[in-house]
Amino acid sequence: MTTTMPSAPSPTARRAPIPAASPAPRPVAPTTTAAPPVRSDRDQVQLRDQLRDQLRDQLRDRDLVLGDAAAVAAAAAAGAALRARPVPAHAGTAAGAAARTPGTSPDPRSGAPTPLEPAVEVRDESRDEGRDEVDDEVDDEERARRIRVAVRARSKAVRAQHPILRHQDAIGATILAVSALGVLATTGAYLTGHLAWWLTIPFAAFFMSFAHEIEHDQIHRLFFTRNPKAQHAMFAICWILRPYAISPWARKPLHLLHHKVSGTKGDIEERAITNGEQWGPKRMLMMIDPVASTVLRLPKDAAHRKIHLQYVAKAYFPLTYIALTLWYSFVLVNGANLAAQAVGLAGITGGPGLALLSIVNALTIVWIAPNVLRVACLHFVSSNMHYFGDVEDGNVVQQTQVLNRWFFAPFQLFCANFGSTHGIHHFVPNDPFYVRQLTARTAHRVMAENGVRFNDLDTFRRANRYALDA
Ligand SMILES: [Zn+2]
Ligand SMILES: [Zn+2]
Repeated sequence: MTTTMPSAPSPTARRAPIPAASPAPRPVAPTTTAAPPVRSDRDQVQLRDQLRDQLRDQLRDRDLVLGDAAAVAAAAAAGAALRARPVPAHAGTAAGAAARTPGTSPDPRSGAPTPLEPAVEVRDESRDEGRDEVDDEVDDEERARRIRVAVRARSKAVRAQHPILRHQDAIGATILAVSALGVLATTGAYLTGHLAWWLTIPFAAFFMSFAHEIEHDQIHRLFFTRNPKAQHAMFAICWILRPYAISPWARKPLHLLHHKVSGTKGDIEERAITNGEQWGPKRMLMMIDPVASTVLRLPKDAAHRKIHLQYVAKAYFPLTYIALTLWYSFVLVNGANLAAQAVGLAGITGGPGLALLSIVNALTIVWIAPNVLRVACLHFVSSNMHYFGDVEDGNVVQQTQVLNRWFFAPFQLFCANFGSTHGIHHFVPNDPFYVRQLTARTAHRVMAENGVRFNDLDTFRRANRYALDA
């Protein structure tokens, strides 16, 4: 993999070269020699749980932390950016000893930092910073590995600091339930006259955006990993809440493909939301309207066109058809009604026509219009923070940028801060979106130091090309 960086590094900011790889990793085994004395059955149970969690933690991170000595050494050598926190009050405990011993893992519930845990600093992450500090002595593969190591270490520390995060299934189910209840409450408030339509739409869109994140994380099987029925149930609820999109079952292979071939021609999911298109009215329409997105980029070849249409027809069945019918009916009938009244005609003013229109209008305001708003924001952010067309195969550093300037806030509000945190997900896909958010400050710093771009607004001119002179 070659190195393509946007600007030359500053000689003064260059870091030390990566140390040679350490010896082969040791077998995973929890540290037991310095465990506190056992006083009772309850202590024994607690100690057993502690050791079990410790072992599980070590196994989980073995590939990227314990098992990859070179990566550990590289991350440790990243200087101030990756310095470990001072050992806190538990310095005399077994966990404290483990925290200070390279290659060991402290008890997650102790809150002890990991050897690789980067310090958290408060700084302005909104600028395109760090690019002139990028270490040009390593390639993008090594940079990606450094980012993964640091993010995984931060994720581990965050999980240690907040033991509740261990209940991932319950948290996922709760967030989805809150999302659904929020939409229902908003619907009730609108239908009973307590909430205006122009507040109902953004409130509902906000709640629906969390269902989108849950669906995405469930595509990566982050909740109820060994319970397919629960996974399907979550997918079904997510689609009911967000019918203005293809079904989660149809999206799953496309999204996993997106991770595999992100930024290349095979990235169907991103191309479907206009990534790579020149900016203009056509791209804006395709970004918001799924039918336009399909029709305006049909393959020229008849056989491929047929396959494409069959896939879409199946992916829309049945909820997207309902959503599109409601949305187009809402736009067309109300538009025609207003036009008729503007030229002095009566339009629809009573009878069954008005009753039906009232139902269409109500369903659109509480269910479909919020999704149109949400999709417009998500697609705008997503289709501009992914690079496309000249991304090197498998080069994660080139796949995304971070969009987190203040003026993106109105869009981020309806897509769970996607522009700021989705890039992290490309490096470490197995953290749920709320953990990703908790690791963002550290992740952004390490990403900037390793060449990931921030707020590259010129991408609008380049139609998502990674090369700055495209
Ligand atoms: Zn993903
Ligand atoms: Zn992506």
